[in-house]
Amino acid sequence: MAATVPPDHVVIFGRPGSGKSSLAERLGADFGYTLVRTGEMLRDAVRKGDHLGKRVENHLARGDLVPDRLILELLEANFRGPGMTHLLFDGFPRTMGQVPLLDQFERHYGFAIGCYLEIAVSRAEAVARMTGRRVCPRCGATYHLISKPPEVAETCDRDGTRLERRPDDTTEVVEFRQQVYDDHALPILHHYEQAEPALCRKVNGNQPFPLVYNESRRALGVPDEAPN
Ligand code: AMP
Repeated sequence: MAATVPPDHVVIFGRPGSGKSSLAERLGADFGYTLVRTGEMLRDAVRKGDHLGKRVENHLARGDLVPDRLILELLEANFRGPGMTHLLFDGFPRTMGQVPLLDQFERHYGFAIGCYLEIAVSRAEAVARMTGRRVCPRCGATYHLISKPPEVAETCDRDGTRLERRPDDTTEVVEFRQQVYDDHALPILHHYEQAEPALCRKVNGNQPFPLVYNESRRALGVPDEAPN
């Protein structure tokens, strides 16, 4: 019989535009995970204009990776380890240099990743999805012109702010970010497939979100969501 609870701690991988953030949000809501999202933490630092935000702003706008030492600084400032019983990492580790950082956090805070989940999407599909993405500059909510439109065109459902394109969602930057993923994430996936084959799962992300969600649940060892 399938388990009814997923692993305590999970890492999600997926190229930009794979839908991994929407998936992380659903899994967080349904299974009580605390999301550890370095991209969101970085954008937050930029919005606040703090010391770290000023140093990472240009990297984010270019779609380039933030140096590992700044990611360590970011996580040390934001990671509240004890008390965080269910962690879901979205966007970290992003380079081979960050793999030992995750090991370090696991040892230091006494948790163990139980699944490395990859949402596999073709590069062409990811590019098409990203150019339709819109975000709320105030609260960070994400929408998509086709797959997740707001109730009122170009307006945030939560706070009525006019939606924007993320500065790193322009066609040129989108292509660059895909290349960054190919260069950095593929070696990480290969590493975990070698080191932890029993914990690696791959889900087909080239399908509508409800199907990706159910396939992900199965990959995490829990049954499909009951139909309404
Ligand atoms: P995301 O929201 O995960 O797509 O991340 C947005 C941007 O934040 C990326 O294009 C990178 O510039 C930066 N970023 C997020 N997470 C990391 C990380 N773990 N290492 C380096 N850069 C990161």
